[in-house]
Order: sequence, then C-alpha cells, then structure tokens
Amino acid sequence: MVRTLCRGQQLVLATHNPGKLQEFEALLGPVGIDLVSAAALGLHEPEEDAADFAGNARIKAVAAATASGLVALSDDSGFCVAGLGGAPGVHSARWAGESKDFAAAMERVHQRLGDSADRRAWFVAALCLAWPDGRTATFLGRIDGAVAWPPRGGNGFGYDPMFQPGGAQATFGEMDPDAKHAVSHRARAFVQVLACCLG
Ligand code: IMP
Repeated sequence: MVRTLCRGQQLVLATHNPGKLQEFEALLGPVGIDLVSAAALGLHEPEEDAADFAGNARIKAVAAATASGLVALSDDSGFCVAGLGGAPGVHSARWAGESKDFAAAMERVHQRLGDSADRRAWFVAALCLAWPDGRTATFLGRIDGAVAWPPRGGNGFGYDPMFQPGGAQATFGEMDPDAKHAVSHRARAFVQVLACCLG
C-alpha cells in the first residue's frame, strides 16, 4: 500500500543534478511541496548499477530516504536513440564523463549514429518515492521524438538541444521551460506521482 504525500511536506530530491532540481521545483512548487536536494544535505551519491531506469531510481530514493529520514523522490532518466539500440540510455550521464561535458556526449551520439536513416529517439524518466520505513513506489514516463543535428537552443540541460519531440519544430533546448514541462518524460511520470500519492 502506497503512502500519501501532504501539501506543506518536505521531500528530499535524490539528485546532485541542478537541472533536475530546477525542473522538480517547477513541478512541485505549485502543489505546495517543499524540496531539499540530496546535494544540499551532503548525502553521498550511491552507485547506480541497476540494469534499468526503475532499478536505478529505486537505489537513489532508498539511499536518500534512509540517510535523511525524510520521504525521498528520485529521478533516473536518460536519452535513448533507436539507431544505437537504445543507447546512451541508462548510461546517459556517463557518456558526458566526469566533467559532465554534454556537448561532447551529443557529438558522440551524432558520430555513432552516422548517416543512419533511423532518427527516432526518446527520453525516459523513472520516478521513485521512498519512505523511511522502506516502502517504495515507481512511476515511468516517456516522450518520443527524433534526433536533431546540429544541436539547437540553450535552454534545459543534458541532451535537450539534440531532441525534437514528435509534432514540434523546436528542440527541447529551444523550448521555454513551461513548454518542455507540458510534454516531458519527467512531467508524464510526475502526473502519476500526484494522482497516486497526493491526498
Ligand atoms: P541520471 O542522473 O543518472 O538519471 O542521469 C540522467 C542523464 O540523462 C542526465 O544527466 C542527462 O544527460 C540525461 N537526461 C535526463 N533527462 C533529461 C532531460 O530532460 N533533458 C536532457 N537530458 C536529460
């Protein structure tokens, strides 16, 4: 049985990624839930060694809930390219290396894809809520689109400038944050969190 969340409650967001923190603040602010990041609490980042997004999200949420004693929300997400067999996928952050160089990671995707006719790509987000008593609940969201090259736009983070969601002319990097939040993988998973857990 999944526990509920209350307006006014403080959640720890199990991330050290400032781009994700900003997006969750925009999603959770309007429903009155206050966020503190794992980075701000000085929590360590656990090894993300699961084979899929849901498994990694669970590892991060459970680690943050256990260490902080607060309900934790985690996001494990990534960029998947059909012509690369779904890569970089769960390794999306790793493709940018220690220096988190996403210009280099996008170039790597482009080089490996070469002149493949299959330009399909998608983002996936697995959100996991973990309670300090060990309960967890996981929710998945996905947005389909195509690889754009060269990268376009300076908004968002990560692979946003090389992703054009289906039906749009703009890349995520060119969209206003509100336009991205209306359709993103993260927002789609987040709607399910609210439907399930917000009393
Ligand atoms: P994680 O922290 O292991 O979940 O890493 C996810 C990585 O996937 C991020 O560092 C980004 O590279 C990429 N990613 C996830 N969501 C997005 C998004 O909304 N836009 C762009 N890149 C994203």
